[in-house]
Amino acid sequence: MSGASVKVAVRVRPFNSRETSKESKCIIQMQGNSTTILNPKNPKEAPKSFSFDYSYWSHTTPDDPCFASQSQVYNDIGKEMLQHAFEGYNVCIFAYGQTGAGKSYTMMGKQEEGQEGIIPQLCEELFEKINDNINEDISYSVEVAYMEIYCERVRDLLNPKNKGNLRVREHPLLGPYVEDLSKLAVTSYTDIADLMDAGNKARTVAATNMNETSSRSHAVFTIVFTQRKHDSETDLSTEKVSKISLVDLAGSERADSTGAKGTRLKEGANINKSLTTLGKVISALAEVDNCTSKSKKKKKTDFIPYRDSVLTWLLRENLGGNSRTAMVAALSPADINYDETLSTLRYADRAK
Ligand code: ADP
Repeated sequence: MSGASVKVAVRVRPFNSRETSKESKCIIQMQGNSTTILNPKNPKEAPKSFSFDYSYWSHTTPDDPCFASQSQVYNDIGKEMLQHAFEGYNVCIFAYGQTGAGKSYTMMGKQEEGQEGIIPQLCEELFEKINDNINEDISYSVEVAYMEIYCERVRDLLNPKNKGNLRVREHPLLGPYVEDLSKLAVTSYTDIADLMDAGNKARTVAATNMNETSSRSHAVFTIVFTQRKHDSETDLSTEKVSKISLVDLAGSERADSTGAKGTRLKEGANINKSLTTLGKVISALAEVDNCTSKSKKKKKTDFIPYRDSVLTWLLRENLGGNSRTAMVAALSPADINYDETLSTLRYADRAK
């Protein structure tokens, strides 16, 4: 579905120590682009199969041909999205899945050779491309913002002094935005890496102070990338602005499965609301893609429920319209996570 606006990948992580100590069985199989899940509670039940743009297998050894390295995931997904940004599209990559399934590993990764996730690899290549293309007729500027959405409220991760929640407003021409959110100009990959580091620390501190865990909030890293072209013959300048949103979503586990009560339950309901709305927006967009007639396209677009959550409202310019979206659904291989893994696969399947 290379022409479509939503690309969907699933990625299985290796067993973790808890699963290994419980001697968990692997219930996921992958072949080509197809992913199959077996129901460990009912081995007689027919396995359920799904097909995605990419199915990444990773709990084998790195020399196994099916092993999906961080660079492969970036080359398939991040590279293409970055190319779209250079073409002037807004782009959005988000990671979905239950806590511990590998969302942060896919988006951020680790600060070790070969372990960097999509975000650092994309930022690094962004500046490589800028430095390769820069000349007297074309100039570039890059600004970044980093925010966290928790229970429908927005916090600035690049200005931890700004402890309060920021207001979400709507600009008549530019659409939804966060008032007073820091947007910092950067000129190198190192600048971005330093800001991300500080932002991630602020996220952990804020979560600890509030007695939460960062897995309950959505982290949205935004790069605003401007290309200015000067035509020396006409002496006119044109500007192309692309917004790249990279989103590590809150854990998708259902509140009722964690035995949550009171605040936790309310919090869970809020998180699920934005994830459910995001799912609805993405599948509505996938349907728009699958429509050929122009009139149908208009009609379907009217029903996209962006306003139903802060997350989708703020990502409106990055989802649909002049934008390209990719989603990586992170999965545990283990039988003990069957229900959550099946629900993640279904969510990913609706996004196609
Ligand atoms: P999440 O962000 O979904 O809560 P994490 O990304 O923190 O989950 O992953 C949980 C653990 O599993 C981390 O220790 C991470 O390094 C490891 N992990 C996740 N995905 C992979 C992978 N594809 N390969 C190797 N380790 C992984």
